[in-house]
Amino acid sequence: MKSILIVGGGLAGLVNANYLAEKGLSVTLIEKKVYPFHRVCGEYISNEVVPFLISLDLFPEEFHPPSIKEFQLTSVNGKAAQMPLDLGGFGISRFAFDDFLYKKALARGVSFILNKGVEDISYQDDQFLVKTEGETFTVDLVIGSFGKRSRVDVALKRDFIRSRSPYVGVKYHIRTDQPSDLISLHNFKDGYCGLSQIEDGKFTLCYLTHRSNLKKHGTIQSMEAEVLSKNPYLKSVFQNSEFLYDRPEVINEITFATKSPFENHILMTGDAAGMITPLCGNGMAMAIHSAKILSELVVEYSAGKLTRDQLEISYTNKWKAQFATRLWAGRQIQKLFGDVWTSNVAVNIIRRSKPIASMIMRNTHGQPFRNLTTAGCGSFPGKTK
Ligand SMILES: Cc1cc2nc3c(=O)[nH]c(=O)nc-3n(C[C@H](O)[C@H](O)[C@H](O)COP(=O)(O)OP(=O)(O)OC[C@H]3O[C@@H](n4cnc5c(N)ncnc54)[C@H](O)[C@@H]3O)c2cc1C
Repeated sequence: MKSILIVGGGLAGLVNANYLAEKGLSVTLIEKKVYPFHRVCGEYISNEVVPFLISLDLFPEEFHPPSIKEFQLTSVNGKAAQMPLDLGGFGISRFAFDDFLYKKALARGVSFILNKGVEDISYQDDQFLVKTEGETFTVDLVIGSFGKRSRVDVALKRDFIRSRSPYVGVKYHIRTDQPSDLISLHNFKDGYCGLSQIEDGKFTLCYLTHRSNLKKHGTIQSMEAEVLSKNPYLKSVFQNSEFLYDRPEVINEITFATKSPFENHILMTGDAAGMITPLCGNGMAMAIHSAKILSELVVEYSAGKLTRDQLEISYTNKWKAQFATRLWAGRQIQKLFGDVWTSNVAVNIIRRSKPIASMIMRNTHGQPFRNLTTAGCGSFPGKTK
């Protein structure tokens, strides 16, 4: 049996681990943190993943995640428009969801090495040497699911790592007054902020902005008071909500640059293969979908039905066919955000032409998909692939 090592236990890594263990393969996952933990993420997941999660018994039903069906967009100066979402989604914190997937993987027999970061991965003689602090592992296959930016990217000298990225992400959990089925996206100068419900009646408030905004205003609090609160919707949220953390989760150097789905024979999934702009609310669905595509091929490779070359070519082709257009569309749409004039154009598109707005949204999402080889699939009202 091939030995498989997954580097990074976010959604992509954990879904790969669950899928491969379910198929009887021997899997080890190395994650640098310890579950459960918070991450910067809007925590809205597109319904396209629901049939697949149900089919692998990975849908987090026990958290009663709210169903989200409506979308509201506001411009920098507070013009608003609302429309129904084609597919919709559900809300759950990464604190709860990742821990839920981790426990499912443990029960399936996945071996976890936690609290240990991978420093380098090299490939020679058809095997990988994976170096962590103090230990080196020799394995047949490595899945790279280490997210948007990792020290492994630096060690591999990946192209995108050479240029700095100007984006900063900030997240809070709050209690506020917004309908449970609504996701709102509020523009502010040089950024945008999403708000939607998760488990236990809490809401996730998460925004992306340019580093220069933070630099100009010194602290997150003064940037929120002086920039975000110029949008009257955000002003009301900041003034009338209960903030549940002492301080927000913050990350920087978020990049939307083009990446490659495999490098130095490491097969990349989730953000490690390419990150869609957060306004699309599709990064988590893409992480889950890319894990499905990769795991299916790894099962064939392990059974000797594919060579390494065939595995790499087939995965690259399938990944590009499924995600390249979405990533491109996300980058284009992001240009409409964070500016008074263009954000008003975006609001007007929704107000005046909902079919065009729906078409733009569809370009950033996929169709519902399921695991066709697992019995016991749950039902889902959409078209499935
Ligand atoms: C501001 C913002 C808002 C977002 N909002 C949404 C949203 O509402 N909906 C949505 O669908 N998507 C959203 N996204 C995108 C979404 O968060 C990502 O696409 C998704 O988390 C990708 O999952 P992943 O498993 O690839 O990476 P991650 O979830 O980032 O997981 C990577 C894991 O690898 C681990 N790791 C990294 N380096 C190493 C190492 N060297 N050794 C061991 N472990 C390592 C990390 O600790 C981490 O646990 C948002 C992103 C941002 C930045």
